[in-house]
Amino acid sequence: MKKLLEGLQEFRKTYVPAHQELLQELSQGQKPGVMFITCADSRIDPNLVTQTEMGELFIVRNAGNIIPPYGATNGGEGATIEYAINALGIEQIIVCGHSQCGAMKGLLHLNKLQENMPLVYDWLKHAEATRRLVRDNYPDHSDKELLEIAVAENVITQIENLKTYPSVHSKLYQGKLHIYAWIYYIETGEVMAYDPVNHVYVPPHSQLLPDENPDEPIQKFIRTSAPPIACNLVTKETVGASY
Ligand SMILES: [Zn+2]
Repeated sequence: MKKLLEGLQEFRKTYVPAHQELLQELSQGQKPGVMFITCADSRIDPNLVTQTEMGELFIVRNAGNIIPPYGATNGGEGATIEYAINALGIEQIIVCGHSQCGAMKGLLHLNKLQENMPLVYDWLKHAEATRRLVRDNYPDHSDKELLEIAVAENVITQIENLKTYPSVHSKLYQGKLHIYAWIYYIETGEVMAYDPVNHVYVPPHSQLLPDENPDEPIQKFIRTSAPPIACNLVTKETVGASY
């Protein structure tokens, strides 16, 4: 706690004077360009990773970067999504999973959770499609590989859940909303983005600049290449450099 209190003082002393204009502007209202949905894990810092400032990311965090399907709960996720789209006019959503995700580890060992953490057990029911897909389609993999696969597949599962929200559905229909699937790697600080055309995770910049880097080898995240994921995200052509 002492560290946090000292941090508050330091923030007031250095950051605030250096960002007076930004803070004044933000006091008039927010206009974040991107909604960022990720895990509550302390090892992820969306603003740090994307080098964005206050006011740029509208962030939702919970265990496992889970989005309960529309109508499944009256939780904060749905209300926050609705607000982001209808009130803030957000047109880009990133769902970002991460390596070594404790929630995904729990999902792969669900039986052990029920007694010790019943609330987590219930929460992970919103990722049941991920668990089932991994169990049925990746039979011969080590625990370590299964965790990586679960992380990758869960981001896609949660995007499917996201698409059940009427406001999301409608904006997608109008072509006014783009959804991106990311994985953040704690070990390296690297981010990989899902390429819905080839069903693999690739470096995000390879999607932004497909024609400008023809010789750059694309580091494919092979383990998620099969089975093809039934996911209708943005196509390569529509991945813009707008953020
Ligand atoms: Zn996590």
